[in-house]
Amino acid sequence: MTKRTNHPFRKKWGQNFLADGNLLDRIARTIDPKETDSILEIGPGEGALTERIFPYVDEMAAIEIDPMLIEYLQNRESLKGLHVVHGDILLQEIENIPIKNPVRVIGNIPYNITSPIIFWLIEQLDYWGDAFIMMQKEVAERLSAKVGTKAYGRFTIVVGAYLNMEYCFTIPPDVFIPKPKVDSAIIRFTKKEIPIVSDEKYGRFNKLVATAFSQRRKMLRNTLKGWDFPDSLKEKIDFTRRPESLTIEEFASMV
Ligand code: SAM
Repeated sequence: MTKRTNHPFRKKWGQNFLADGNLLDRIARTIDPKETDSILEIGPGEGALTERIFPYVDEMAAIEIDPMLIEYLQNRESLKGLHVVHGDILLQEIENIPIKNPVRVIGNIPYNITSPIIFWLIEQLDYWGDAFIMMQKEVAERLSAKVGTKAYGRFTIVVGAYLNMEYCFTIPPDVFIPKPKVDSAIIRFTKKEIPIVSDEKYGRFNKLVATAFSQRRKMLRNTLKGWDFPDSLKEKIDFTRRPESLTIEEFASMV
């Protein structure tokens, strides 16, 4: 394993850099870059993944928050032509990034902002096609959890109303410098052709799911006591069920 620079690792920016060539090759094969692709990378770091994707695609932009890394990336001969953008991914609009959209998003992201990045992807839905995001394994398991399992919950349902998720593979801590304390995983997101919940109903849906899961061992008739549901719905959904037994579609039918 090699590290190219003497860059000081900044914990606040979740800097754990991938340093295993075989693993990086495997991630690149999984992403499967095509010559017509327009790729947006979140948090390129020193460019370990970038250099395995950039030569094979039409256009690529990389958004990095750390000014010291910006300079490093701009000076790398092998990355000439890459659009390096200095900024916070959460403040970007894909439409304003100087590459064509819809983009394919990739990123070994800072784990402390995993949920905000996923909600950012949902906000930017019209401008990307698929997204390969690395995250803590436990979060990946919650996102891709099946109904009725322990990992299935509010996060699975709210994200699952808009996105499909495919668990690609697990990544052990020892391929990173510095090593994180947890296992990681890579997830491929694609968009639901038709979102399960419309934009207007999103607020109520989010609140309903949060309330139902506020006490996950309790029956819906107890947690949702204050909610007013039509009789027709009460005929369809058995309110003695616990929240983890309801599919995303069933929750959506309640708002
Ligand atoms: N992709 C590199 C790799 O795999 O070696 C670095 C991954 S490291 C886990 C996360 C990267 O995201 C760091 O380079 C960090 O500076 C950058 N970063 C952190 N917060 C960011 C933000 N809000 N917007 C853009 N980049 C961010």
